[in-house]
Amino acid sequence: MPKIAIVGAGQCGLTLAAGLLRTGDHEVTVISALTADQVRTRRPTSTQVMFEPALAIERDRGLALWDDQTPAIEALHMTLAPTPQTPRLDLVGRLPAPARSVDQRVKMARLLDEMDRHVRTRTATVDDLEGYLDSGSYDLVVVAAGRGELAELFTRIPERSPYTTPQRKLAVCYVRGMRPDPDVDVVGGHFNVVPGAGEIIVIPALTTTGTCDIIFVEAIPGGPMDVFDAGLSPEAHLRVLQDVLRRHTPWLAERCTEITPTDPHANLVGAFTPTVRNPVGILPSGRAVLGLADVVLANDPITAQGSNIAARAAAFWEQAIRDHGEGPFRAGWMRTNADRFWTEVGETPTRWTNELMLPHPPAPHVAQILGAATQFPEVADRIGRGFTDPDDLNDWFMTPEAAERYLGEVVARHQAAIS
Ligand SMILES: Cc1cc2nc3c(=O)[nH]c(=O)nc-3n(C[C@H](O)[C@H](O)[C@H](O)COP(=O)(O)OP(=O)(O)OC[C@H]3O[C@@H](n4cnc5c(N)ncnc54)[C@H](O)[C@@H]3O)c2cc1C
Repeated sequence: MPKIAIVGAGQCGLTLAAGLLRTGDHEVTVISALTADQVRTRRPTSTQVMFEPALAIERDRGLALWDDQTPAIEALHMTLAPTPQTPRLDLVGRLPAPARSVDQRVKMARLLDEMDRHVRTRTATVDDLEGYLDSGSYDLVVVAAGRGELAELFTRIPERSPYTTPQRKLAVCYVRGMRPDPDVDVVGGHFNVVPGAGEIIVIPALTTTGTCDIIFVEAIPGGPMDVFDAGLSPEAHLRVLQDVLRRHTPWLAERCTEITPTDPHANLVGAFTPTVRNPVGILPSGRAVLGLADVVLANDPITAQGSNIAARAAAFWEQAIRDHGEGPFRAGWMRTNADRFWTEVGETPTRWTNELMLPHPPAPHVAQILGAATQFPEVADRIGRGFTDPDDLNDWFMTPEAAERYLGEVVARHQAAIS
């Protein structure tokens, strides 16, 4: 029976472990830096909105344990804040199926408890990875350890990594008491673009203390919303946040007069450089380990794709591991499958996310799409679909030519309908 070591008990590692353990054809050990209790009581690590394709992967593996408690996000409200030259612009797109955000502290802590027999608590080092392969204890070592130190084992791919510095400063706070969005008649996420400053995203979610809203500021470094210090307490974070909301998105400030943090660790401040890495990591001994999800594909969270890619990576590699069968897992096998994963799953969301990081205002064809979406609900809905299925964006959003063709078709359909 192939023996698989999975380093990292996050979205990817635990989904892969749960998938492989379903059938009992593999021996699986998860190496987790933290115990379940430590995960439960730490700071949040994400805003973790997951869309239908990733939720379906979780459902198939028995991991959809919070559906009845978690707000079902049915729509995406987008607001382009006004500038001296342009008015405020609002549009609401329906998602093709509800999205959900279950705090990773809730999810990973419970899954660690449930997989207890297969978990070893340890912060794995490069020497440990050598040891797992050296002693023949494992046939394959998967590194799904997020953006931590082990990522350095995997070389950066410059042609897929256009940035060398963080493109946004990230400031997250989980809050209770936010009033519902008056412009949306269902539960919706609210994506606000503030030209020259960044984005403010509101996400209804489930956290350790019940349902909540997550207010996520993506600040352009050095810009007017880059005002959150790493050491802020949740209460101090909220004071800074309320000031930011009053200055840049007063419509959100009105919804936030009564907000309080959901728990004593409810905020997160940080930044990282979006980086794509080679998924085959070579240890000092020359042996190969396989890097998955954020280790090798760390995109800015502005498009909410990382957890979704992590779940899809788990499903993809579970199948590849099953297809491989017995025998050594060689670097060539890793490389061939990794190339396929990049083409089938990773490339489009990475390109889309990196383009959204470009300086404001949006490219002219994107501005045209947003304008059309305020007039034609089908365009707004298609934006919602893009978050769920980024590949769809290739057909109409990613280039000026595709956008022109698509918007032409929409207008023609509309004219035919009214004539
Ligand atoms: C502010 C923010 C908001 C985000 N919002 C969204 C969103 O809305 N939607 C979305 O899809 N994505 C979002 N993401 C991205 C998403 O959280 C990640 O892409 C996803 O969690 C990656 O999963 P992973 O399994 O690769 O890594 P992680 O979930 O980070 O898990 C890695 C695990 O490995 C452990 N670990 C690290 N080093 C070691 C070691 N040496 N030994 C053992 N264990 C180790 C860590 O403790 C952790 O538990 C967001 C990210 C951020 C920072």
